[in-house]
Amino acid sequence: MPLRLFNTLTGQLDPLEPADGKALRMYACGPTVYDYGHIGNFRTFLQIDVLRRFLQLSGVALRHVMNITDVDDKIIRNAAQAGVSIGEYTARYEAAFFEDLDALRVQRPEQIARATEHIGQMVALIQKLAEAGAAYQAEDGSWYFRLRAFPEYGKLSKKDLSGMEDGARVDVDEYEKDSARDFALWKAPKPGETSWETAIGQGRPGWHIECSAMAMEYLGESLDLHAGGEDLMFPHHENEIAQSETVTHKPFARHWMHVRFLLVDGRKMSKSEGNFYTLRDLLLKGYKASAIRLALISVPYRHQLNFTFDGLVEATAAIDRLRTFHQRLTEGQFGPGATPAMQEAAHKAHADYLAALANDLNTAEARAPIFDLVRAANTAIDQGQFLAADRDAILAVLKDFDAVFDVIADNDAEPTRQALAWAEREGRMAEVAPELLAAQSISDEAIEALVAERTLAKRQRNFARADQIRNELAEKGVVIEDSKDGVRWKRK
Ligand code: AMP
Ligand code: ZN
Repeated sequence: MPLRLFNTLTGQLDPLEPADGKALRMYACGPTVYDYGHIGNFRTFLQIDVLRRFLQLSGVALRHVMNITDVDDKIIRNAAQAGVSIGEYTARYEAAFFEDLDALRVQRPEQIARATEHIGQMVALIQKLAEAGAAYQAEDGSWYFRLRAFPEYGKLSKKDLSGMEDGARVDVDEYEKDSARDFALWKAPKPGETSWETAIGQGRPGWHIECSAMAMEYLGESLDLHAGGEDLMFPHHENEIAQSETVTHKPFARHWMHVRFLLVDGRKMSKSEGNFYTLRDLLLKGYKASAIRLALISVPYRHQLNFTFDGLVEATAAIDRLRTFHQRLTEGQFGPGATPAMQEAAHKAHADYLAALANDLNTAEARAPIFDLVRAANTAIDQGQFLAADRDAILAVLKDFDAVFDVIADNDAEPTRQALAWAEREGRMAEVAPELLAAQSISDEAIEALVAERTLAKRQRNFARADQIRNELAEKGVVIEDSKDGVRWKRK
């Protein structure tokens, strides 16, 4: 089923398909690596991951490019304060960014592009803009885009910019909402700032030019899709359109996707508001990476999501249900054949799941039939009305569910271990939740040994010792489950 995705440019759901019939050429604005990302940032990257994975599941090949903004005002300021080069400064946060993406199981784009490695392409684009009369150099040597040169300015964000002042300029990377001004393409260096010597003078690129230059470098003049958080619609994406279309006279991107913000108590989660959590903060509080992933993707991208700890608790419980059920299917013994009721239920859940995702990536509606199916199957198994082919049909549905949601396989130990190692290195062990520390203090081998000892104790009718072991393990966050197939344990 082809994906119909809301298109900010047309204001409607449009089918999303590769124009060349081969691979979908998409560009997503990446992070500015001046600090650790917060989970608001990761909501955007996770929703783009949902898009990627659903396209792959639908058989669409991808050419996805993401930029890394590794030079800007904040980076230059922070690197100078730390007394290191901007390269040294950003390397550390770029590595942290990828570590966080891996923890959240966000797939890597096919191409990562660093701004500082594409200065030549940006300079060439500014030269073309100057030839077209759309760029001019100010007294200090900085270059600006002349908004008057692009009458369609505002077509993405649908802002009425008729009253804008010709020649009014803005030279910072971030500026007040609703002010349409000539924006900086190239910034002349202030004393001591990092800069490049180029054909258009000494300086460094503005933020907007980087995305136009790198998107066209890797994906050509007209992209199938351009994506980012909702704050980027204006002015960043509007500026990218102006820069690119002035030169090419072609639509820069046919489709624009904007992810709504993650909020905290009704306000956007952001560094400047000081109301943010990083992934590491949450891992050290004992939440699992999979629960954070599920909580951040379960509300569809076009809805704002209010962050709560209850949401993480709910996601943890939901994942637990899925994993327990999956284990029950893979380890259970079922007679040969199929039941019509289960076959029908599996078929319907699968169809509803795919239809919900195809309808503007509605993750909330996609999730619901899967959990309904789990409930129905658990009941059927309890009643002995579940056969081997039912298991196969349901495992196939769960496989497609996990192709996008990716929370069933339990890989949660590694991100938590990494966060703890990081806390240790950074002297932040005081932030670690006590239960998490307790849970880490026992190895898998030690658990296995205690579980075996408990089984033996029970066989010898030494119930006091068996209970003692159960309690000891519980204190370390390990739960034991006795079932007819034997004893299972898991970390909470
Ligand atoms: P930045 O590193 O600030 O350039 O942001 C990286 C990405 O995160 C951009 O696509 C932003 O639009 C997005 N973003 C920033 N804050 C939030 C938030 N609170 N919720 C969702 N996305 C966000
Ligand atoms: Zn961008």
